[in-house]
Amino acid sequence: MNVLKFGGTSVANAENIKLTANIIAKKAKEDRLVVVVSALSGVTDLLLSASKKASDKDAAYKEIVAEIEKKHLFAIKELIPVNDQSAMLSHVKRIINHLETLLDGCFLLGELSDRTSDTIIGFGELLSSCIIAETLKQQIPDAAYKDSRELIKTNNQFGKAIVNFAESNLLIHNYFDTHDSSVTVIPGFIASSSDGHNTTLGRGGSDYTAAIVAAALHSKQLEIWTDVNGMYTANPRIVKQAHPIETISYQEAMELSHFGAKVLYPPTIQPVLNKNIPILIKNTFEPEAEGTLISATAKESENPVKGISHIDNITLITLEGSGIIGVSGSSKRLFGTLSNENINVIFITQASSEHTICIGIQNSDAEKAKIAIDKAFEVEISQSKINPCTVEKNLCIVALVGESMKNHQGLSGKMFSTLGKNNVNIRAIAQGASERNISVVINERDVKKALNTLHERFFEDNTKQLNLFVMGVGNVGEKFMDQIHQQKKFLKENRKINLRVIAISNSRKMHFDEDGMPLKDWKESLENGETADKQTFISRVKALNLRNSIFVDITANEEVSKTYDQYLEENIAVVTCNKIACASAYENYSHLKNLSRKFNAPFLFETNVGAGLPIIDTLKHMIASGDKVHKIQAVLSGSLNFIFNNFKENNNFHDVVKEAGVQGFTEPDPKIDLSGVDVARKILILIRESGYEMEIEDIDNESFLPKECLDTQSVPDFFTSLIKHESHFNALYKNAVAKNSRLKYVAKFENGKASVGLQLIEPSHPFYNLEGKDNIVLFYTDRYVDQPLLIKGAGAGAAVTASGIFADVIRIGNV
Ligand code: ADP
Ligand code: ASP
Ligand code: MG
Repeated sequence: MNVLKFGGTSVANAENIKLTANIIAKKAKEDRLVVVVSALSGVTDLLLSASKKASDKDAAYKEIVAEIEKKHLFAIKELIPVNDQSAMLSHVKRIINHLETLLDGCFLLGELSDRTSDTIIGFGELLSSCIIAETLKQQIPDAAYKDSRELIKTNNQFGKAIVNFAESNLLIHNYFDTHDSSVTVIPGFIASSSDGHNTTLGRGGSDYTAAIVAAALHSKQLEIWTDVNGMYTANPRIVKQAHPIETISYQEAMELSHFGAKVLYPPTIQPVLNKNIPILIKNTFEPEAEGTLISATAKESENPVKGISHIDNITLITLEGSGIIGVSGSSKRLFGTLSNENINVIFITQASSEHTICIGIQNSDAEKAKIAIDKAFEVEISQSKINPCTVEKNLCIVALVGESMKNHQGLSGKMFSTLGKNNVNIRAIAQGASERNISVVINERDVKKALNTLHERFFEDNTKQLNLFVMGVGNVGEKFMDQIHQQKKFLKENRKINLRVIAISNSRKMHFDEDGMPLKDWKESLENGETADKQTFISRVKALNLRNSIFVDITANEEVSKTYDQYLEENIAVVTCNKIACASAYENYSHLKNLSRKFNAPFLFETNVGAGLPIIDTLKHMIASGDKVHKIQAVLSGSLNFIFNNFKENNNFHDVVKEAGVQGFTEPDPKIDLSGVDVARKILILIRESGYEMEIEDIDNESFLPKECLDTQSVPDFFTSLIKHESHFNALYKNAVAKNSRLKYVAKFENGKASVGLQLIEPSHPFYNLEGKDNIVLFYTDRYVDQPLLIKGAGAGAAVTASGIFADVIRIGNV
């Protein structure tokens, strides 16, 4: 004998029922079968809603009944040969009429007792099972139908009745001993009490029906056919990377299902465990997939963690006060009270000081529990020995489950640090004495992030997903997107970094794709995107609440630079090539650095100085290892170096500046480079990163530009002024040539003072031969006393800047 159970989606409509029938027909060739079926997908919910409406005196319940009727009649027409249809149609109509009569009664009385509710919500299985039995007759002529209310007996605890196994086992035995159909279809979920009332086994209870029958008949296996390829390492709807577990022990499966793995109704395991009957979970829509085998002898796997599950809608109730200490029986009273109120306790922790007891229950029980507990401890509360209990709603329990977790140290540490790094606040912790389970209570809004990071940590070979939110896709931004596109596969395969771009924005448009956008047509997606808005952008990034989120600023915009704090505070990393924030008031710079530390969110801006050159990173390592910077000398403007390297007798200053712009070496407004403001910002950032406090105003900046050029108000005016003052620039050049020197724009820091300006550099100086748009920095430190540490290379250009931003992103991936 083999017992097969098909869930709601497996029998959702005629098309799916045909798939189900084929599986049954194939299996029937091997063994006698009992087939347990659920209601058509969604029908139990429709019945619940109809009964609620009827008892609320809302006549709309009639529409729901009509919808239910339509679904079933449609299925009959599709599944059953025309000649045999009328009997089934009238049978179903009779059932529907009966349902309607009951609902009319609820409507007239404005009332719905638990007992009536159980009768009403059982109609889904009554309807589905008779249609499926009739459908099967085409392939298996002796297919029979049996009403499980005549086989499974329970008490009168409506909604989730307790099974009387002795009585049920006898009835099941008697029936199957005296009937020998090759296939018998029975409705899941429904049963009846010993005194004849209809009962149900709890939501999802068809699995349980199948287990009860399998255990009673000592079947060789129990097969649960559903819509996924088995029991997964985490809920596959929330964790895309989750995968089916090949084999798992009864205890592990029980733990996972108790903690929310809906694929198996928790009570299902007990009856089959006692008889050592394995459970096989299979997918109706992919029958060739292996599925999950639950048995007493699950294979030992290398990974001590078997799965991660979670329960939503949790409320934490905390009872606290000195009155709890030493008063024997406090917990007995607490749990007694909850039990009297029929409140299911899902989670318990008690501080070892015994000062507080903390329990997790369902949100829907919260009010009832608070009233009952405060009443039970009324006397202690009035004497201020115990505080009125506190109630925190909308939480969620996340549990790591695995039999051999007890043999491994440090798993809980790993769990907590993974959550901590992603700023998931842990409200309470419990570890079962069996150590088969470590569970934490967190905020519901963090659940997706928590499940995904934990899954990544425990099941994905340390692959790290980075979620990028990119603002600014101009010259540099475009190169950045191209580089990600090129490197994505390599990074995933070789560095275990899964880079995803979730959002992009320019000043006009923005586009979000929660699953990571296809990188080859990001431009098109952006063009078709919604109107850009910085604040909406931030709200969306926050609401998505994805793990390892990184905001990437590739603008030169001051407003954007003012939003970093809002990201960092949410534990979202900031990577930026925009210098404005780090060169703003020292207070703001240090505030951002503090936020980064406090919220464990990297704030990286390597490209603020020297484009892609590893200057800031090197400096950071030097300082962290105890070195101290005394003096910095640098050429930090790729654009000014390009301009003065190309400015010769045979061209004019204006044209060279224009060309630098065309090649992307200057800021959009070239005056920012030529006035020295940009270089001043850069040296300021190096000074601050060296550990000194300084403001931009403290930096001497004697401009080589005539005042009139400096005072211009627009980019075109600035260029015009360069033409006007051509002789001034020619004179600068001639003077340099006369002195056998070259013009270099130099930034300096020494003895606490900083300056930027154009200088004549003699041939012996390391700056003399600085080519093209290169940058050079000399650091004189405790360790580099006579010979400075020198970093030199291309210091401007879209591609190197983009690669510098990329490097910062990868740094975060490597943390
Ligand atoms: P059925 O109607 O077949 O009984 P259910 O909806 O009750 O199916 O259970 C299957 C669903 O359980 C899956 O579609 C999936 O969304 C959900 N689920 C939650 N956690 C898990 C898990 N760990 N493994 C597999 N499925 C899970
Ligand atoms: N139809 C019932 C429910 O939706 C039982 C089941 O599907 O297992 O809860
Ligand atoms: Mg189910």
